[in-house]
Amino acid sequence: AHEIHLASRPHGWPTQDNFRTVEVDLPDPGPGEVLVRNTFLSVDPYMRGRMNDVKSYVPPFALDAPMDGGAVGEVVSSGSDDLKPGDTVLHQAGWRSHALLPARGVRRIDVSAVPASAYLGALGMPGMTAYVGLTRIAEVREGDTVLVSGAAGAVGSAAGQMARLLGAKTVIGSAGGPEKCAWLTDELGFDVALDYKAAPIGRQLREHAPVDVYFDNVGGDHLEAAIFAMADFGRIAACGAIADYNADAPVPGPRNLMMVVSKRLTLRGFIVTDHSDVTSEFYRTAGAWAAAGQLQWRETVVDGLDNAVDAFLGLHRGDNTGKMLVRV
Ligand code: NDP
Repeated sequence: AHEIHLASRPHGWPTQDNFRTVEVDLPDPGPGEVLVRNTFLSVDPYMRGRMNDVKSYVPPFALDAPMDGGAVGEVVSSGSDDLKPGDTVLHQAGWRSHALLPARGVRRIDVSAVPASAYLGALGMPGMTAYVGLTRIAEVREGDTVLVSGAAGAVGSAAGQMARLLGAKTVIGSAGGPEKCAWLTDELGFDVALDYKAAPIGRQLREHAPVDVYFDNVGGDHLEAAIFAMADFGRIAACGAIADYNADAPVPGPRNLMMVVSKRLTLRGFIVTDHSDVTSEFYRTAGAWAAAGQLQWRETVVDGLDNAVDAFLGLHRGDNTGKMLVRV
């Protein structure tokens, strides 16, 4: 089996030298354990934060140890009565070809209607992030104008579609490049897609104000532009700030924070894992939307564990449309 270790902590943009592929021999599963052959690994923006040695909502990756993260795979052999060879499972031992795990650390998934990889995207953690942000944090209401940044990514593409399904009147997305923007408006039903690489986002947003809800995946200039565009009493779900993740020094905040006061805005951050009480509601609701064809997704698949670091870096450059995955 092969696994990818963090060899050193990156400063600014990671490089290949920060990672090492290590070959290991895995024993047969003992009682209560399963051996899983991974088929798809998730690379996610939050993993960049875990490469730093700082206290946060998830502990940092250890040096010279396999990194982890969402993955799906097939049970190869099992020491548990609950799982049998051939079962498709979801677990957290990503960044490796095979994983030996306690059976309680894996969840069997139903792949009769959707492919296993969907459980890493629209029907998994990113989809649930979109759902929690809209329903529990920004509390989207009938008739709202909703703005989503990073809208052609895993979370953003789900958030825009879900906003509409939850009653939004107008859905605006921002993304980098004309192909991504065309996907949003032509296939996902966004009313407006703004290509932030073509012109400053603040200037483009002006004609679409006022915005009731902003689902922020980007931070930086997007957050400042959104604050300018918000309606009085608008709600901002602060989900991520990918524009800043590879900065090697602290970045300045929005220059217009006083508008949070004058417009009486709510700006509320959240972490999806705090909301496990929403999990069954999310699976039920998103599963029904997907079955009805109302929730769609795309995947950008990079082949080979050896290319997982490239996939991770590509995610931060915007190489992905929809969910970025590694096929092992
Ligand atoms: P995405 O699939 O959205 O991939 C990242 C995207 O970010 C890229 O495709 C790129 O798209 C965009 N991007 C990169 N740099 C910039 C920049 N400087 N300005 C604008 N866009 C940029 O990733 P996810 O859907 O997995 O995650 C989206 C966000 O949600 C992240 O901020 C992540 O940290 C956050 N998140 C938060 C969670 C929570 O619990 N709070 C849980 C999961 C995710 P483009 O080509 O359009 O630039």
